[in-house]
Amino acid sequence: AAKESGKACSKHHVRTTFDNSRSRFHLETELRRAVERDELELHYQPIINMKDNSLKGFEALARWNHKERGFVSPAEFIPIAEETSIIVDLGRWALDKVCSQIKEWDDLRGNKDSLSVNVNVSGIQFARDNIYEAVTVALDRYKTNPELLTVELTESAIINNPAQIAHTLDNLRQKGVKVALDDFGTGYSSLNYLHQFPIDCIKIDRSFIDDLEHGSQKYEILNLIAKFGHKMGLYLVAEGLETQVHVDLVHELNVTNAQGYFYSKPLNIEAATQLVKGDIPWTKS
Ligand code: C2E
Ligand code: MG
Ligand code: MG
Ligand code: MG
Repeated sequence: AAKESGKACSKHHVRTTFDNSRSRFHLETELRRAVERDELELHYQPIINMKDNSLKGFEALARWNHKERGFVSPAEFIPIAEETSIIVDLGRWALDKVCSQIKEWDDLRGNKDSLSVNVNVSGIQFARDNIYEAVTVALDRYKTNPELLTVELTESAIINNPAQIAHTLDNLRQKGVKVALDDFGTGYSSLNYLHQFPIDCIKIDRSFIDDLEHGSQKYEILNLIAKFGHKMGLYLVAEGLETQVHVDLVHELNVTNAQGYFYSKPLNIEAATQLVKGDIPWTKS
């Protein structure tokens, strides 16, 4: 862009670039500090089994409440973390929190069905950290049931080193940890490749849902994904359901599980704990 705009606005351009890089540098420093000081939070978005409206579990989503900037979106700070070494510490922090939370909620549930919690793991962390070890440390620390932990990773995370990642996922699954492929449909994985990959769950990206219409091409693709998923014995979660229409269409396609604002936004720990204590079936509030 700088090249195209030429001399005319170069001064202004340099100034904004400087400001942006400086503010980014600050953000980076502050993010590193926030992770070290345990100032980030995890919020928990319910995942619902649509067949019986039961609460299946949650996805843990990182939140950074910055003193001056207010709420900074993970869409902003995860990329910063990924471009630096911060993602490794942030990822380990999230695993630790989630394993602690699973254990606490599992104890709270008593005789009720256990709930599982999904945690996002960045592809960069897969490349830079020993994920198997990181997960094991967190599970052992709280004596958490590995069956209740689901690791989410995206298709793009796999592309760089599929053999290595498949090996790590195999080891995690042998422990009982579940694996979900996040944002499915936005990356490059072919169905052929998918069936060889050690996963338990496909999370269908919200871009499939937002303008979903009966009989449209998207609808047919989704239909295929759902049929394929069931054939492969995977469980499916549709992301980003916001309306009753979305719910009806997704249900019609036999996708079992759903996550989206229609059911609930991500909740803080207190609000999520209220749901954990409650009786299933889940009811929309
Ligand atoms: P994701 O893993 O695909 O998470 C789902 C995102 O969709 C969340 O955004 C969630 O709040 C949002 N969402 C859920 N339902 C709806 C809906 O009905 N409509 C709309 N418009 N959005 C909905 P969020 O929390 O802003 O997180 C964005 C992304 O940041 C996540 O996408 C994930 O890739 C990343 N992320 C968040 N927390 C972590 C973390 O702890 N570690 C890593 N590595 N990445 C994280
Ligand atoms: Mg996710
Ligand atoms: Mg997703
Ligand atoms: Mg995403």
